[in-house]
Amino acid sequence: MSMQDRFSFDTQSRLPGLSFDTVRTTVLSTAKEHDLPVVINTDREIQIETDYGNYSFLRQGTESSVQVGSTRADWLYVLKESLGDTIAHLSPDTASKIMWSDAQESAGCLPPNFQFITVQEVRQIPGGFLRVVTEAETLAHFTTDAIHFRLALPTPELAYPEWPYLSETGATVWPTGAATLHRPVYTVRELDAKTGRLVFDVFEHDGGRATEWARSATPGSRVGITGPGGGGIPQTEAITIYSDETGYPAVARLLAALGPEARGRVLLEHTTPDSKSYPLPDHAGIDVLHHPAVSNLDLADVAIAEMGAFADHMIWFASEKKAAQKLRAHIKAAGLSPKDHYIAAYWTRPAS
Ligand SMILES: Cc1cc2nc3c(=O)[nH]c(=O)nc-3n(C[C@H](O)[C@H](O)[C@H](O)COP(=O)(O)OP(=O)(O)OC[C@H]3O[C@@H](n4cnc5c(N)ncnc54)[C@H](O)[C@@H]3O)c2cc1C
Repeated sequence: MSMQDRFSFDTQSRLPGLSFDTVRTTVLSTAKEHDLPVVINTDREIQIETDYGNYSFLRQGTESSVQVGSTRADWLYVLKESLGDTIAHLSPDTASKIMWSDAQESAGCLPPNFQFITVQEVRQIPGGFLRVVTEAETLAHFTTDAIHFRLALPTPELAYPEWPYLSETGATVWPTGAATLHRPVYTVRELDAKTGRLVFDVFEHDGGRATEWARSATPGSRVGITGPGGGGIPQTEAITIYSDETGYPAVARLLAALGPEARGRVLLEHTTPDSKSYPLPDHAGIDVLHHPAVSNLDLADVAIAEMGAFADHMIWFASEKKAAQKLRAHIKAAGLSPKDHYIAAYWTRPAS
């Protein structure tokens, strides 16, 4: 079945200067790395399946082309962006020549996964967080499979912010220089798809640009977001959760969404005792414990020390980048698959 027959949204582009054999080697290794099914693999076509839709790469004489298909316009866009990044690593020249067949109709428009949110209220909540209540244009695509989004914050000094748009080739043009947007990831803490109400909690930390923005935002303030994206609620019955403050809103989503049969434990790292009062829903099968960040064991060390005790549990881990890397490396060295767990870097400590 062709991409057009299978998917409601599809597009294609030539990949000038890139041979089919080079593309096939890259696609096969990417599919292996990310565990993506290869559904066609011949000397004319290689097709892979992703959660968002399919990529089909075709031999075109000495070069190649790609077709992308998806059931949703925003997913098609995400697939195109992701392919653009991969091709840019492989051959920047080819990446600059990609011309999507659907580009003309959208040239000059905002990217499909970009929208504006309008602040209704910002208030302090227990735990050292600012709760930001906003109204989004549409939340139709925010599902439990994707609970995160990126803010798009202009530099506060800028009188006239610039926003991204789609070029005539279909590429996203992001503002640069002084107009560059700051794009940290946040978690949807609450949403109401009918009214567009989107609530998120910002952990206040010194020097944080999102913190500064939230402190100064007033009803009517308008910023951009992109999304949704990222890992959602895992389907599991046994789970051990480790998180520092940046992951508390996601932990709250998990506790609210895990089924009644779920059992496990949450260990929350805190930089100040105040963080322990962050509001979390109760779950009868899941205990919540606290761990001071000043201990001589960082969160990754704790998770590693406890792995034997929770061997049949999925590990859900959200913390600083080095801790996430340490745990991921340990899991691989132990012969386990990081894919069976969620191990994510939620922020990066600057090199000292
Ligand atoms: C999937 C995902 C979901 C997330 N959800 C949330 C959420 O719901 N709420 C939330 O508060 N955060 C969340 N985060 C973390 C958030 O994106 C980062 O903390 C981000 O750096 C915040 O941007 P900023 O503008 O505040 O800081 P920046 O301006 O980007 O950074 C300024 C300085 O602050 C430091 N910094 C960043 N985070 C912290 C921190 N937690 N403690 C101390 N120093 C820090 C940086 O290293 C840098 O030196 C999430 C991250 C991911 C990947």
